[in-house]
Amino acid sequence: MKIYNTLTQKLEEIKPRKDNKINMFVCGPTVYDHAHIGHARTYVFFDMLVKYLQYKKYKVFFLMNITDIDDKLIARAKQTETTEKELADIHIKSFFEDMKELHVKVTKYAKATDFIPQIIKQVKILLEKGYAYETPNGIYYDITKFEDYGNLSKQPLNELKVHRIEPDLTKRNIADFSLWKRQKPGEPAWQSPFGKGRPGWHIEDTAIAMHYFGEQYDLHGGGIDLMFPHHEAEIAQAEAITGKKPYVKYWIHPTHLIVEGRKMSKSLGNFITIKKALEEFPAEALRIMFIQTHYKKELNYSKETIETTRAAYERLKSFQERLNEIDSRKYDKGLKIIIGKEKKKILTALDNNFDTPKAFTILMTLIKRINGMIEKNKIGKKNTIEITKFLNEINTFFNILPEEKKAKITKEIKELVKEREKARKKKDFAKADSIRDKLKEKGILMEDTPKGSKIRAL
Ligand code: AMP
Repeated sequence: MKIYNTLTQKLEEIKPRKDNKINMFVCGPTVYDHAHIGHARTYVFFDMLVKYLQYKKYKVFFLMNITDIDDKLIARAKQTETTEKELADIHIKSFFEDMKELHVKVTKYAKATDFIPQIIKQVKILLEKGYAYETPNGIYYDITKFEDYGNLSKQPLNELKVHRIEPDLTKRNIADFSLWKRQKPGEPAWQSPFGKGRPGWHIEDTAIAMHYFGEQYDLHGGGIDLMFPHHEAEIAQAEAITGKKPYVKYWIHPTHLIVEGRKMSKSLGNFITIKKALEEFPAEALRIMFIQTHYKKELNYSKETIETTRAAYERLKSFQERLNEIDSRKYDKGLKIIIGKEKKKILTALDNNFDTPKAFTILMTLIKRINGMIEKNKIGKKNTIEITKFLNEINTFFNILPEEKKAKITKEIKELVKEREKARKKKDFAKADSIRDKLKEKGILMEDTPKGSKIRAL
């Protein structure tokens, strides 16, 4: 499989460093608020990539950090009159719920505050090796000491973008970044050989990743905004500590999600949490939305996108329902060959820089073709088994098939269904309808087909 590597600026064949094992680190959220649909886009993309690599028989370790201490958390805790820990715990719980709902499967989550000793150790080495220096405000990394600084984001040192945070005047160079921040009154802090304080943002990732993966690993991901300075800083830290290059072989940066053409932000009032989006439609539909735009392109969450997604999701759903209804003995020999050919095309698209929109179009065109065959009554039960097997295979990495909810049939529901059947036979439709409404209130949908009534969960 080929993927675009930011480091080399090329499409490159993924070749793990060792055997068929892939160690992948993805930058997790800063947990001062609930996660939004931008997070969903990034994490669902990496989830699909991992599952696709697993489908291709790689063993993938998907590691994600959680930033549970930083400036934003401290500011929000002050605003809401709570502690940083309480604030973080609430949003970590909420984030885990979101990831579960979205079917995102991470091998290991690691909180920054659980890795303070490892962070301190790395800062110490950087000081000893002369890459870091001390000021009254803390410890900084001197970027002029690392000659490859700027290599990932392709920026010459003298043209580096200015930091997003107000520069600290005690720094040697404007682009030097913080490794350890000395405690300010009222801030949470940890003991260290360089005084009480807390870690800078970049060092938690190298401390966590190197704890699990060692000095070098295969794949690092995060949204495009993190390429500079965050990922640049990670490389500078790790390679200075170990003296080994490259710290990470492949760097993958999906592009952001925007809302109605604008950056998502609280002040614009267009901040959409994952929970809110999941009220709008199911996780499978959201995943379809992400699939329909290539990960290197900006995704505009707009009314139009929502409608296209909903339509695709409904088409898949009704296709599945149609398949379930086929029970004829007919068999179309050619269909298996067609499915095989289209599956190959889907995999080829995914092998080429994970071209999910192309793969999805091939899938939907095939479904349209099969729908045509169903209308002409050409296929039977045996064909539907083959189609379902193919769909399930694709679903192992896409997770887009509407989950068929199983109705929980209690004794009371059984009685009501029987009663309704009796009423229908007696042509007492008023009674039958009122029982149907009662069942609906209990989450059960009755569908009358020519072959009798069927029960479905709502
Ligand atoms: P943050 O919580 O802002 O530290 O971001 C955590 C991860 O989500 C990073 O990989 C970001 O690049 C990514 N991310 C943040 N905002 C968006 C967005 N609007 N679209 C896609 N990814 C995002």
